[in-house]
Amino acid sequence: MSRVPMLIGNWKMNKTLQEARDFAQRLGQQSMHLKPGCEYAICAPYTSLHLLRVMLPAQVQLGAQNVYHEVSGAYTGEISAPMLVDFGTKFVLAGHSERRAIFGESNEMIARKVSTIMKAGMTPILCVGETIAEREAGQTEHVVKEQVLSGLANLESGEVETLVIAYEPVWAIGTGKTASVDDAGQVIGWIRQILVDQFSSSVANHVRILYGGSVKADNIASFVGHPEIDGGLVGGASLEADSFVGMAKAIE
Ligand code: PEP
Repeated sequence: MSRVPMLIGNWKMNKTLQEARDFAQRLGQQSMHLKPGCEYAICAPYTSLHLLRVMLPAQVQLGAQNVYHEVSGAYTGEISAPMLVDFGTKFVLAGHSERRAIFGESNEMIARKVSTIMKAGMTPILCVGETIAEREAGQTEHVVKEQVLSGLANLESGEVETLVIAYEPVWAIGTGKTASVDDAGQVIGWIRQILVDQFSSSVANHVRILYGGSVKADNIASFVGHPEIDGGLVGGASLEADSFVGMAKAIE
C-alpha cells in the first residue's frame, strides 16, 4: 500500500521567539514548495508552539518534543497532553534518544507517554534506535525490537496503525554520519515485520516508519526512495527554512 511520506523537523532546544518567527516567515514565503503529497511538521520547544500555530503555513503541522503521562497535578515543570492539544499540536515525539540517554527515560515511561499522546487524540512519533556499541555487538535487531514492542505495549491494534515510528540509530544523530540506505531500509523492514507478527499485516502496512540521523536536503531523496522508508525525522537540517524547503523539494 502507498503511505503518505512525512518530513518532520525536530528543533530540539533551539530558537528564541524571534528566531522561530523568522523561520515561519521565511517558510511562508516558500510554502508553494510544500506539496500536498507529503505531510510536514515541526516539533518545536513548548515556548514556540503558540507562535508557530499562528504563523506556520497551513501545510505544516505542529509537533511537540515531549509530554508527561499524567493529565494534571503536582508535577512541577511538566506539560500534559491536554495542554498540547490546546495549542493545536498534532504530533509528539516519544523516546527520542536524547530523552532516553540524558533524561533516563525507560521503555516503560515511553510506553506511558505513547498511550497518553494517543488517548489525547494526537499522534505519537515513537523513536527507536541502537547505540554504536549495540550495533557493533550485533544487537541492533534485539534492541530495536524491545524498544518497539515495549513502546507499543499499552496500545490497541486500531491505535497502532495510526502511529509513526522513527528509526534513528543513535550514532547517526547530529554526527553527520548516516546509516546507509540499505541498512536503514533493512532495520525498518524488521520493524514492519515486528508489527506484522505482533498485530497484523494490515496494521504494519499502515504505520509510517521514518529514518532519522543526519538527514539533509542532499541525502533525503535516497532514503525516501527506499520502499520501506516513509520519510525523515530531521534535527539540524530542519532549523533553517531554506533547508527544510530543500528537503521538501527533494522528496517530491
Ligand atoms: C533528531 O534530532 O532526531 C535527529 C535525527 O537529528 P539530526 O538530523 O541532527 O541528526
